[in-house]
Amino acid sequence: MANLDTFDHQSTNSTGGSHEERKMTIEWIDRYMALGIPYPDPKTMCKGQCEGTGVYPHRQPDGDFKFVKCEDCDGTGYADKRRRE
Ligand SMILES: [Zn+2]
Repeated sequence: MANLDTFDHQSTNSTGGSHEERKMTIEWIDRYMALGIPYPDPKTMCKGQCEGTGVYPHRQPDGDFKFVKCEDCDGTGYADKRRRE
């Protein structure tokens, strides 16, 4: 499983433009790339905190981030969890 360190590392490799704006965008793009999943369809993707990935980063008591299953979509990434059968 990927963790947030991967995203931060990749986003700091970008050059040019507004750093803060690019960082926000690139972090979300990298999230899908790092997980090896296609970009979700906005019409069907989960509206919960997983943003259509089925998992979301959750800070552990030791300070690390782990991806945990989204409870809104039961880890499917779809707003209608029955779509994935
Ligand atoms: Zn979800």
